[in-house]
Amino acid sequence: MSDLILLSPLKGWAAPLAEAPDPVFAEKMMGDGVLIDPTGATLHAPCDGQVISVHHTRHAVTLRATSGAEILMHVGLETVALGGQGFEPHVADGQTVRAGDPLLSFDLDHLARHAKSLITPIILASPEGFQIVRRTEGRAVEVGDVLMVVRATDAATGASAMGEGEASRTVAPHLPHGLHARPAAAVANAAKRFPAEVWIACQGRKANAKSVVALMALGVREGDALTVTATGPEAEAAAAAVAAVLEGLQERAEPPPPPKPAKPSVAASQDPKLIIGVPASPGLAVGKALRFVPAEIAVSEAGQGAVQESAELARARGVVRDSLEKAAVGGDRERRSILAAHIALLDDPELVSAAQGLIDAGKSAAFAWRQAIRAQVVMLQGLDDSRMVERIGDLKDLERQVLVALLGKGGEGAPELPPGTILLAEELLPSQLVALDADRLAGLCTAAGGPTSHVAILAAGMGLPAVVAAGERVLAIADGAPLILDADKGQLHLDPEPWELEAVETALNARRQRKAAAKASALDLCNTADGHRVEIFANLGKPSEAAPAVENGAEGSGLLRTEFLFLERETPPDEEEQLVAYQAIATGLGGRPLIVRTLDIGGDKPAPYLPIPYEDNPALGLRGVRTSLWRPDLLRTQLRAVLRVKPAGQCRIMIPMVASVAEVQAVRAVLNEVKAELGNADPVELGVMVETPSCAVLADQIAEVADFLSVGTNDLTQYALAMDRGNPALAAQLDALHPAVLRLIRQTVEGAARHGRWVGVCGGLASDPLAAPVLVGLGVRELSAAPAMIPEVKMAVRAVTLAAAREAALKALDLKSAAEVRALLLKTWPNLSASGREGA
Ligand code: PEP
Ligand code: MG
Repeated sequence: MSDLILLSPLKGWAAPLAEAPDPVFAEKMMGDGVLIDPTGATLHAPCDGQVISVHHTRHAVTLRATSGAEILMHVGLETVALGGQGFEPHVADGQTVRAGDPLLSFDLDHLARHAKSLITPIILASPEGFQIVRRTEGRAVEVGDVLMVVRATDAATGASAMGEGEASRTVAPHLPHGLHARPAAAVANAAKRFPAEVWIACQGRKANAKSVVALMALGVREGDALTVTATGPEAEAAAAAVAAVLEGLQERAEPPPPPKPAKPSVAASQDPKLIIGVPASPGLAVGKALRFVPAEIAVSEAGQGAVQESAELARARGVVRDSLEKAAVGGDRERRSILAAHIALLDDPELVSAAQGLIDAGKSAAFAWRQAIRAQVVMLQGLDDSRMVERIGDLKDLERQVLVALLGKGGEGAPELPPGTILLAEELLPSQLVALDADRLAGLCTAAGGPTSHVAILAAGMGLPAVVAAGERVLAIADGAPLILDADKGQLHLDPEPWELEAVETALNARRQRKAAAKASALDLCNTADGHRVEIFANLGKPSEAAPAVENGAEGSGLLRTEFLFLERETPPDEEEQLVAYQAIATGLGGRPLIVRTLDIGGDKPAPYLPIPYEDNPALGLRGVRTSLWRPDLLRTQLRAVLRVKPAGQCRIMIPMVASVAEVQAVRAVLNEVKAELGNADPVELGVMVETPSCAVLADQIAEVADFLSVGTNDLTQYALAMDRGNPALAAQLDALHPAVLRLIRQTVEGAARHGRWVGVCGGLASDPLAAPVLVGLGVRELSAAPAMIPEVKMAVRAVTLAAAREAALKALDLKSAAEVRALLLKTWPNLSASGREGA
């Protein structure tokens, strides 16, 4: 039997049933479904069927679909009390209707004044044999939008014949990297929506599907068959929902585990003055060693009674949750997602119930929490999976934080740092790093840990050179010992010779001086040495970055990545929310041009409210402009918000991932419609990002329909070289100075010139001072860089003449590799060292 599609019977806002201000609906006593907060006043049939009943007080209609599923539509809450006033039915019991037929009209005003609520539950009232497999929630709906998809459960494959209140499914999900933290969290969230107990079995092991830690410890591998078993109320729906989530999983958000760190070579390990680890955050530092040894927190084993200890544990977890939530406010995306993962672990049912079991057995809350965490740590250690082992730091961090909250001691872990400290530790936990005085920290080297650990990500965000997995020798270094940390190479030099220290100090000083000189002239306009103007813009990713970018010399923003508004949330931002954010950025730029990129979502940037079907290869799938044209409602809302920014004309619009002329025309058509809707007659420039080889090769055609072109070298390089930009094993080869990419840029400039369009570069290459001459030489006239790199990029442009830049570009086009291009540029302009690259 095919799925039954239920269309929205009302115009309004669709929301989860659990949000109903009435437990009868919120707790699904009437059945599962979706709420609509209506803005329209006519209820329509959600599918073909027969009217089973129009309630005698006319506020509710039940329909039976041809498949037998029954749908109850209950207009407003407690509207039975209105005695039919304000309702006008258009159908009678027994009548056959088609999807979209009007069923009932109501007086919104009257209801708003007299009913408890206008919230209208749309309920699958005959759950036996049916389940909702997809629902629209958290967004505005029009009459006729898809609201729910209902499936006859008997038809579902893989359902086993089990007793009532029991159900199971066997699935073989596509999980190339196993059930890691984020997919595990998606599964746990799906399971938690049901009262049934849900278990997942794999290779003889079994885990509570509501527990992230238990799921991670299952050690699932690609190709494993998983059996989902549910028992208790709504078992059938729970098993089906969890199986559906497993089947729909694909790990777009998490990069694959990095290659195992190269073991130190025998020669290196025998060199008493050199320790080799794994680079975790790039940079070079000279400093003095300081060993970080967090005090072991002593806990007593015996408790003071289960009631008191349980309450204590709940209190302490509450304290930690509050502090994690506070720490997340204002943090960058990485920091917020790390802290959110910690909060999920803090509330993990397996951990909490293991601790509770020990408390019930007479143990103290502190002892119980520590044991519960350590059992999970042992489990993760047993998995031969470096990524899982790196999650151990997160668990230990939570252990310590809860113990500190319980015992009120042990939180004195942040040591006083002398200036220029290179911190050495067995392992550093995220909360410990965050607590350190970053101004006094020159670098970080840990004996254990891994490059994808959360502490490594945080260090990179702080610009702190860090090496991890350097082995036990790190712990034998005396406090105060002079060290050189070369985090680019993953090396720690012990007891360096004075001349070595001097050489590194000289290099660092020269770099600092160059930075200072660049900063001093950052606000000046940027011309080549012979007077050709090159505009230097900033790439922005959130409102707070606008003003500092201007202070660094940005003449505007050449790329606003609007994804910051759309990711990590359940529903997309509405027009007003977007307008506020874009306006804040435009104002922060003080009237300077702002190029707003339309949503580049999909691919490696998934959003939960966009149910993009499973893709074997998301980088080649529905992303960028393709997603916008697939969901024009999102595009429209975004364009409306951009067009409403004041002053008119400050914003330009740029489309990502364009591969053909038709896409630009389609977006322009939507733009024109939106302008007409808004009565906006101001001209607005519409440009494209050149990120696909197709766009570069067809630049002459594209330039006919676009007002400007800006090269996204990050994607252009990955697609030109067929190298995944997220694959650490390929990172060293993924260099946008590759002659193939440079030729595509040349082709772009030539194509654009035929129609008098300008070309900029907004990918990471624009932030590399060494690349500036070659880009200028190729005819690029705007570089949009990471704000921190603007002063140095301006310096680089000022250092070259157009003629010399052109000559270098011509030579570079004929070279055979990016390395050869870099060598040529360094030879020609030795001072434009690329060591200062700071992302894109
Ligand atoms: C690019 O691809 O170069 C680019 C600037 O876009 P993003 O890095 O956001 O994909
Ligand atoms: Mg891109």
